[in-house]
Parts: sequence; structure tokens; C-alpha cells
Amino acid sequence: MLTTPHYASSLPSFFHRNITLPPTPAPRIVALNTELAQQLELDVDWLHSAEGLAFLSRGILPHRDEASSGPVATAYAGHQFGQFVPSLGDGRAALIADCQTKDGHQLELQIKGTGPTPFSRHGDGRNTLGPALREYLISEAMHALGIPTTRALAVLTTGDMVERDKGPTPGAQIVRVARSHVRVGSFQYAAAHGGLDHVRQLADFTIQRLFPALTNEGPECYLSLLKIAIRQQAQLVARWMEVGFIHGVMNTDNCALSGETLDYGPCAFMDRFDPMKRFSFIDKDGRYAYGRQPALALWNLSRLAECLFPLFDDDEDKAIEKAQDALQGYDQLFHHAWLAGFRRKLGLEEQDEHDIRLLEHILETMHTGQADFTNAFRMLSSPDVAIRDDYSALRELFPGNKGHFDLCRTEILHRLTLEKRPAEVRQQAMQATNPRIIPRNHQVEAALSQAIEGDCWLFHTLHDALKTPFAEANDGLAAAPKQEEEIHHTFCGT
Ligand code: AMP
Ligand code: MG
Repeated sequence: MLTTPHYASSLPSFFHRNITLPPTPAPRIVALNTELAQQLELDVDWLHSAEGLAFLSRGILPHRDEASSGPVATAYAGHQFGQFVPSLGDGRAALIADCQTKDGHQLELQIKGTGPTPFSRHGDGRNTLGPALREYLISEAMHALGIPTTRALAVLTTGDMVERDKGPTPGAQIVRVARSHVRVGSFQYAAAHGGLDHVRQLADFTIQRLFPALTNEGPECYLSLLKIAIRQQAQLVARWMEVGFIHGVMNTDNCALSGETLDYGPCAFMDRFDPMKRFSFIDKDGRYAYGRQPALALWNLSRLAECLFPLFDDDEDKAIEKAQDALQGYDQLFHHAWLAGFRRKLGLEEQDEHDIRLLEHILETMHTGQADFTNAFRMLSSPDVAIRDDYSALRELFPGNKGHFDLCRTEILHRLTLEKRPAEVRQQAMQATNPRIIPRNHQVEAALSQAIEGDCWLFHTLHDALKTPFAEANDGLAAAPKQEEEIHHTFCGT
């Protein structure tokens, strides 16, 4: 059931602006997530109707009474590449509705690519087809991989062109769904412009919305909110690391309190394993490189703690100590989640104190051997491939250092002798953990270029295949890019 955004009715206007979204000349659905629509109990025929299009493109709800809110653009600040920007906000996005699902979840629907809002600063408020489809494809792939993420409900073209660096490109919108769009940057906005009362209001809203069980805890609930955020980020980033996902722009305004992956601008999955791999064209220093993501999440959480800590105790010193203690827990939480995840990838059920060293050694061997991260783990999961005498196909995946791989494999075999479950069961578990396919950057870019030219076949093929990333199939989509096919840079597309 659709209702007006709860955000607007629960929080004072300090946090948002009610807006009327400008009409788009000829809205047309390019991709519609019918499975998600069903979960949201939205009728697919209705979404295709004139009324449905008015909802998807402008947030017009058919039965809204005049007194209740229409779309809202939310206010937030943020550290962008380490620099604090006190006023960012939804400059091209708006919450259009809340949706209560059958199983009792309350979700937010947001349009990205609304046209100008009061937060647009110098931007045009628009989105384009490439980035909108990119978010649709990758966020849905993340969901299929079992990683917490915002979902994509629809991509629409607006019917006009938008000026970007490379010239005019089709204007588009993505309608996405999240448990909440509250970010670390939302708290930074409250702290910077309103002070402690506003931070408390936002914390109360977030708790009530996302973690209602905390309301029983009294004043302690604010410290619990920070602790949950710390745990969820540690677990989320560990999941990213397991699949080689590089977010690309882990600014505090893109770090969601819900623990969902938020904002798919320049993100990409790495092919060959490289701890310093980055794609984003603007990330010149590699601040958000693959291997730096765990530390960056902690950096973002520290910014959240700076906003929240005065709520922890009337005594400032005690309040700071509580915040510090909570933040100190991050490393262990991340380490624990990372180790559990990579143990699963290697099919290790038992625990051995040397596992961490073994896993680090495997990753180092992948790096020096220039192995494709996804394919190497997938092949290790194939029946017998790791243990039979002829493992030449696996060895070929380490062209940069086959000798090191031989030694590493011996270590793996030795470690497997500690495992009690049968090899077939272990391999099945590994195949359900190590994806056969991920949205590889060269495939994504090819699909988007074709879609911009009007041919969505590759986009839909990729999207369909990525719904079952662990299943065996003979579709050619698992191949790593040849050197000349690799695409090393992604762009925000704003
Ligand atoms: P994003 O890259 O979507 O996370 O956006 C970062 C900030 O820049 C947010 O405040 C956006 O609203 C704003 N922004 C990005 N692109 C545009 C645009 N085309 N017009 C207006 N604001 C934008
Ligand atoms: Mg953002």
C-alpha cells in the first residue's frame, strides 16, 4: 500500500522541502522490476498506465488528500573525499511514497533524476539513461548475491535530452526502494545546522523506523543506534570484499544507516585481484580503492559518532569514552565478518588459527598471479578441480605466477585435510557462495552503450542472468575481459 512519505510527516521541515516535481515530456518505462513490484503490491498494469507513469516520474499519488505531503527532497550534508560540505541534499532526487509490504516492512520509494529541487545548487537535477540503468543492473545484481542494498523498481526515459560532457544524452529517472534513505550525512546536516535537538529528532525517527526494538532501551538507545550502525557497516563492507565490489564514492552522504548499499555512481566489480583497484575517474588517489573500503567505513562511522555522542551521556568525557569504545569494536566486527565470509568462499567449515594467514596468502597469490578474483574462487569450487592431479585449467588462471600458485595450492590441500564434511558437500556450499557471474564492467558498459542507442537486448540478457549468479549456465558471461576489453574507468555521470 502506498502512502505519502513518512519522513515528511514525522520530521520537521528542517530536514526536507516539500516540492512539486516538474513534468517530463514523454515518460516511458525502459525497465520495470515486476518481481519487486509484486512484493510492493503494485499492479504492473497500473504502473504502465498514465496514472502509474505520473506516479513513477513525478510522484503523483492518485488518492492523496491536499493536506498531506507530496514528494520531498531531503536535506543532508556530507564529507566528499574527506572535505566537509555542510549542505548537499537531494539535488536531483525526491522521496515519493512509503510502501507497506505484506510482510510488514515499511519501505521508501525515491526518484533519482527529478529535475531541479531546492538543493540543486548548480546542477540541473537530471539523471541520464546510462547511470540509471547502471544502478538498476548493479543494485539488482547485489540483491541476487544476497548483499543488503537499495532495490531498483524502474528506469524511465523522460523523452528529452540532457547535456553532459560527451554531448546530449537521453534523460532518465530511476525509481529505487530502500528501507530508509537516512545517511550519515543526514546526521551531519542536523548537527551542523540545528544542533543537538535536531540530531535527537533524527535519531528518534531512525530508531523508530529501522530499529523499533531500541525504543525500550530509554536514553541508551542512542548508543545502541551507533553500535548497530557500526556492526552493519562492518558486515556490509565484508560482503563487498567477498565479491570484489568497489563502491567508488564512500562519502558520508552515501553511507546509509539502514546498512544497505546506497548510490551506485561509479561503482564496479574488479576482474583481476588488486587490493588497490579503483575505477572511479575522480578517485585519483585511490581513497576508495578496494582494499581501503574497510578503513573508510570506519572513518564514516567516526563522523556519525561525532554527531551522536552528546546524546550518550550528560558528562562529555563519559559520552566521548562510550563513543570511542563503540568505534573500537569495529575492527573486530569487520575482521570476524571478513574471516567468516572468506572461510565460506574456501569451503572451510572448521576453524583453524592459521586460516587468516592462508587466506591472505591466497589473495596475495591472486594478486601476483594476476588471477581473476571471481573465476579463481569459482573454479576452486568446481568438483575436484582443486584436488585432482591435473589442475592445469586452474593454474592457467594465475598467469603472472604459476609457481606461487602451485605452492599455495599445496597449502590449501593441506588445510582441507582438517575438514570433516565430504568434498562434494563442501564444493556445493562453495558454489552457492562463489558466484559464477558478476556484473563485469566491460559487459555493463557494452549493455549501457547499446541501450543508449536504443537496443536494450544486452541489458535485459545481463539482468536476467545476474538474477541467478550462482547457477551453472553456458552463456559466455563468466569470461573475464581480455586485456583489450578491460574498462578501467567509471564516471559519476552527474
Ligand atoms: P550523488 O553523486 O548522486 O551521490 O550526489 C552527490 C550530491 O550532488 C547530491 O547532493 C546530489 O543531489 C548532487 N547532484 C549530483 N548530480 C546532480 C545534478 N545533476 N543536479 C543537481 N544535483 C546533483
Ligand atoms: Mg549520493
